[in-house]
Amino acid sequence: MTVYNFSAGPAVLPTPVLKQAQSEFMDYKGSGMSVMELSHRSSLFDAIIKDAEKRLRELMNIPNNYHVLFLQGGASLQFTMVPLNLAQNKKALYVNTGSWSKKAIAAAKALDNIEVEVIASSAADNFSYIPTITPDMIDQDAAYLHITTNNTIVGTAFQNIPDAGNVPIVADMSSNILANDYNVADFGIIYAGAQKNIGPAGLTVVIIRDDLLGLCEVKEPMLDYKVQANAHSLYNTPPTFAIYMAQLVFKWLQDLGGLPEILQQDQEKAQLLYDAIEKSHLFTSPVHPDSRSITNIPFVTGDEELDQKFNAEALAAGFENLKGHRSVGGMRASLYNAFPKEGVEALVAFMEKFEKENGGA
Ligand SMILES: *Cc1c(COP(=O)(O)O)cnc(C)c1O
Repeated sequence: MTVYNFSAGPAVLPTPVLKQAQSEFMDYKGSGMSVMELSHRSSLFDAIIKDAEKRLRELMNIPNNYHVLFLQGGASLQFTMVPLNLAQNKKALYVNTGSWSKKAIAAAKALDNIEVEVIASSAADNFSYIPTITPDMIDQDAAYLHITTNNTIVGTAFQNIPDAGNVPIVADMSSNILANDYNVADFGIIYAGAQKNIGPAGLTVVIIRDDLLGLCEVKEPMLDYKVQANAHSLYNTPPTFAIYMAQLVFKWLQDLGGLPEILQQDQEKAQLLYDAIEKSHLFTSPVHPDSRSITNIPFVTGDEELDQKFNAEALAAGFENLKGHRSVGGMRASLYNAFPKEGVEALVAFMEKFEKENGGA
């Protein structure tokens, strides 16, 4: 049975990448060693991490005044590193667009010398839309404005990046990095856990403008962006195998034609599913059309029992990880770059069949 993996993360990886990793697994470039066995100070690994960075810079058009860091601790550690490095004894602004924003806000509040202000929130409407942010909402003395560009659980995304004046925008881009047409120069910091749209879990990518290094005194070296940047992500042992996998994914994306090409594919895949939801008399999207994500697409029948039936039958038919997040219920299809279009077509056909069998028009 063909299996389609709709997981929100750790998520599907490109088959050619998995095959290449498999072919090199025991003997990387004639070294007689696996990538996992290489010293992180070896020339072979040095070439991997430098090539990964170069390719990510090319893919995202990252300007030269930005550092690319390969860290650990997940996106969740960035919830703490960002305020610690940028906002001690200052004010930090947040937009609350879902569970991950809430966690970022809570982590900043947990530090005792940060003033946290939530300038907009869609919590009252179940996070079903992205609030509009206008320049007058941004206190120009703030250390940064934090946004979650794509809300993995509720399925919303910023369609445009707000104008924050001189206040740097910090973006949690975990679930739509490499699946958007944002401009890196519009951000002060971009961070992303790799396990959604880059590679395996264990790696966190941080892209940081160099004037944001060393703004606050950070006593913990591992949490200091400046220490990590000066050490070129080798202050301690980095997640070497995850960085290697990311390198292969970046190369795969470039060989496909880069971001414009993959974004078009992503949009086509998302459109297929949104069209099916629009047409359906059974399934609906809980998200406002202007705020829809192309990487995470929730849908519901409005009847919990029917959702459960759908999820059980979908699982039996090879659609893995379609069940919605426990906080939202229903279904959620995560359609990251590596997710094949055939999988969306198969899901749409399955939804039509389910609707016919279950009293839909
Ligand atoms: C998954 C996710 C996180 C958490 O990532 P970890 O790497 O598990 O810490 C944070 N933010 C967003 C938007 C996510 O999708």
